[in-house]
Amino acid sequence: MNMITNHLPTAELQAIDAAHHMHPFTDGAELAAKGARIITRAKGVTLTDSEGEEILDGMAGLWCVNVGYGREELADVAARQMRELPYYNTFFQTSHVPAIALAQKIAELAPGDLNHVFFASGGSDANDTNLRLVRHYWAAKGKPSKTVVISRTNAYHGSTMAGASLGGMGGMHAQGGLPIPGIVHINQPHWYAEGGEMSPEEFGLARARELEAKIAEVGEDNVAAFIAEPIQGAGGVIIPPETYWPEIQRICDAHEILLIADEVICGFGRTGNWFGSQTLGIRPDIMTVAKGLSSGYVPIGASIVCDEVAETVAKAGDFNHGYTYSGHPVSCAVALENLRIIEEEKLIENVATGTGPYLKEKWEQLADHPLVGEAHTRGFMGTLALTPDKARRAQFEASEGTVGLICRGHCFQGNLVMRHVGDRMIIAPPLIFQKSDVDLLIERAVKALDLTLAEIKDKGLYK
Ligand SMILES: *Cc1c(COP(=O)(O)O)cnc(C)c1O
Repeated sequence: MNMITNHLPTAELQAIDAAHHMHPFTDGAELAAKGARIITRAKGVTLTDSEGEEILDGMAGLWCVNVGYGREELADVAARQMRELPYYNTFFQTSHVPAIALAQKIAELAPGDLNHVFFASGGSDANDTNLRLVRHYWAAKGKPSKTVVISRTNAYHGSTMAGASLGGMGGMHAQGGLPIPGIVHINQPHWYAEGGEMSPEEFGLARARELEAKIAEVGEDNVAAFIAEPIQGAGGVIIPPETYWPEIQRICDAHEILLIADEVICGFGRTGNWFGSQTLGIRPDIMTVAKGLSSGYVPIGASIVCDEVAETVAKAGDFNHGYTYSGHPVSCAVALENLRIIEEEKLIENVATGTGPYLKEKWEQLADHPLVGEAHTRGFMGTLALTPDKARRAQFEASEGTVGLICRGHCFQGNLVMRHVGDRMIIAPPLIFQKSDVDLLIERAVKALDLTLAEIKDKGLYK
């Protein structure tokens, strides 16, 4: 058997990696100089690297390993499915049992009349599907001018042409001529950074009302949909003020536009319900899912579509769209087993009423650290702002992200995966996290914050 094992010294693996492997969202020259940290195995909530270091994974991989690592059940299901039917497509009037069973299960879990599933290979391409689907839907309704999708600054909806355009990341738009036409952005509900003197409640309303203003500006006859993450993930775990989503929902209800909730991170338990839409009181017409759907064990994504949209599209002839791996049988079988684990082990209850409240209590105490301006969680998503001046919610004089990167370095050195977005530190641990895991996370986070403070004082970056 051709086993992929760690058969080379770390330095040699790093050299080969730098010579032949192009990494996503990475400065290639910097990586070549430093060498990648090479992860060789994982179990539960712990990663092991090629030097034998054991690292606590505070990010569940990339927000996806909800059931934790090393699940024999998922490996067994994948092997069984590969033996029985490793591949068949779902194009041209064919289907297979794993896709049928998973679509039924997702429809059962999804709220309201979100009863129809279009499979993709991940979250980005599911959002490509959404863009084509909503435009096709309005054309089928006799309103072909309704093509514009409204999104938000600092949103993340993936890295394909449509995904990155729907997203609102300046760094991504700066490369490759994005956004593509027909996508416009309003401001994000990020009170801490942008709220100024307003209360969070006032600010939430003001930012929501930008949607109504944008609909008026573009013309309701030209708007197909609004897309948003219930809680922005990659943007820095931006938890919107309580007033925000009810006002967005009112505006979507008052106007003839579709509401797409990008649940790629929030879906499958992360916020303490099956979907973030349930936690935040959102009634979407379409949901994007991926990541936690399979806990990252295999690639899969999907658009979950309401009755009206699915039925309109079904009556409009061929939808000329699909992916070779739409409804891949191995991915569907693994996802189904993953959902069974989430359900039977009551992992969502762990987030809502078990470890979740304990994480909240401990994490929010980090706000007492001299370097921390705010610290919040919602379910198993946590965020904290680094600041040189708490009272003013001030930014550092060094360019944004300098201090965040220093802090992430200390986390990594201290065997904790905690990510930085600018000068915010964020976590999204596996949903199997126990209180003892929280204690270890907090202990290592505090150590990293202390070391960061010492280093930036040394370098004259503090005040
Ligand atoms: C990760 C992510 C995506 C993109 O998913 P991929 O599987 O990487 O294509 C889309 N939307 C959100 C909210 C995400 O967090």
